Amino acid sequence: MVVTRFAPSPNGSLHLGHAFSAVTAHDLAKERGGKFLLRIEDIDGERSLADKPDEFREDLAWLGLDWEEVPAQSTRLASYEKVASDLIHRGLLYPCTCTRKDIMALEPRLGPEGAIYPGTCKGRVLDPEKPVALRLDVDRAMAELGELFWEDETNGTQIADPRAFGDVVLVRKDAPASYHLAATLDDAADGVTLVTRGQDLFAMTHIHRVLQELLGLPVPIWHHHPILIGADGEKLAKRRNSPSLADRRKAGEDGLALAEQLRGCEFPAGITLASA
Ligand code: GLU
Repeated sequence: MVVTRFAPSPNGSLHLGHAFSAVTAHDLAKERGGKFLLRIEDIDGERSLADKPDEFREDLAWLGLDWEEVPAQSTRLASYEKVASDLIHRGLLYPCTCTRKDIMALEPRLGPEGAIYPGTCKGRVLDPEKPVALRLDVDRAMAELGELFWEDETNGTQIADPRAFGDVVLVRKDAPASYHLAATLDDAADGVTLVTRGQDLFAMTHIHRVLQELLGLPVPIWHHHPILIGADGEKLAKRRNSPSLADRRKAGEDGLALAEQLRGCEFPAGITLASA
């Protein structure tokens, strides 16, 4: 059975781009007789706002979607810790005390996720007073795995090679997992077979595919849908160029009609789909 998901982070309200993503994931599941899941990705500490999950549920209902909700990430921390400790024992994670400022001071190369970490802490004795993140030793992981692929409905078959990211953080200083580790583990635990999300997250799949292989997880297919951009050519953001779904809903806009427009790729003036 096809299982898709919508996995918003409760750091702010949803906007039209999220609605497009949720409708896309919902319809892909329903068209194929499958299941559409909602997962709240709330491990961002203070950035996670307590009132947002309920607002999101109201938004999705307003759009006429039906879903099954799986446990929020904040309830799954022990599962992330367990996997991280397994990876440490396998020599695939190493501790790093560098701050963003330390990394920038080294004038690193830029990768898909910003500055590429130059491996400063690898094999170094660390200051025990400093908070520690855990990074994946990507070269070591790739040497263990060899050539890897993923199937992408929208982009075709891809070769997974996360080396362009450098040694990514899997355990943050302030949380027992980074987005990469948490989302990969949860998609597997939730039985997601078709990871549906915006093309802006396409490059992240290099990392996720490697994690799946390292951890022996089932391998889904991906569907990276095009993202919506505003008249300024930028990705939609509530504060910049798109009102929130909650504001539209409270202003009495018809959510079902909006979902239909999104299905037909009819967007409000100035909003278009970005070409891939
Ligand atoms: N929680 C992520 C976000 O809100 C989505 C992650 C994903 O779909 O993989 O951007």
